[in-house]
Amino acid sequence: MARIELKNVKKSYGAVDVIKGVDLDIRKGEFMVFVGPSGSGKSTLLRLISGLEDITSGEMRFDDQLVNNLVPSDRGIAMVFQSYALYPHMKVYDNMAFGMKLAKAEKAEIDRRVREAAKMLQIDHLLDRLPKQLSGGQRQRVAIGRALVRDPRVFLFDEPLSNLDAGLRVATRLEIAKLHHSMEDTTMIYVTHDQVEAMTLADRIAVLRDGLLEQVGTPAELYERPNSLFVAGFIGSPK
Ligand code: ADP
Ligand code: MG
Repeated sequence: MARIELKNVKKSYGAVDVIKGVDLDIRKGEFMVFVGPSGSGKSTLLRLISGLEDITSGEMRFDDQLVNNLVPSDRGIAMVFQSYALYPHMKVYDNMAFGMKLAKAEKAEIDRRVREAAKMLQIDHLLDRLPKQLSGGQRQRVAIGRALVRDPRVFLFDEPLSNLDAGLRVATRLEIAKLHHSMEDTTMIYVTHDQVEAMTLADRIAVLRDGLLEQVGTPAELYERPNSLFVAGFIGSPK
């Protein structure tokens, strides 16, 4: 059983077809990376999976349950964006606790989970700070922590490192890899245009081209046996 199953998923905005029929199974615990040129539909596909936008046609199932009409909060999904989208007036602790408070979780349970996530991401010494008192890398960790606290079955990342400088990008990438290894059942879907990120993080890579999947495979498969020059150009040659 696939954690996430997409069957002939399409999305149009008015007369513009953006996702043109995507079939894809993503396993429980899998780290799936979407790559592709700007405008190929990566972010749209993530928004469809998250439920932030409805698909135009096709089927989407999570753990065999049809989720086509399920709102984001019922999908068990957390999303981390490249702009950190923290609440500026709230301390780190409250930023991380916010989702669970909305869900009316018990205070002690919220506290336990916030501290556990903060420890995991090594931001436990920052809980009393405001976002403006943090570096870019720390903010991105808080954004990841805020998602982590909600114990999602699926994590979606849309180019989470692209606003960080090179050194921090590497450190945060390693952090995300560690996170994935420590949460065996949690599926991660990660959008990037960075070849190194894709090759090092992915169990499998899905290459998008103009709203369609050009090829899906392990990093080694795509590297050794790209089925088109397009894939070879994306995966094979260092930029
Ligand atoms: P990527 O993340 O791969 O760069 P996007 O998913 O953001 O690509 O966009 C794919 C295409 O869909 C682009 O051509 C974009 O202009 C178009 N698009 C995205 N969102 C909308 C929208 N809300 N309305 C109309 N067109 C959109
Ligand atoms: Mg995008």
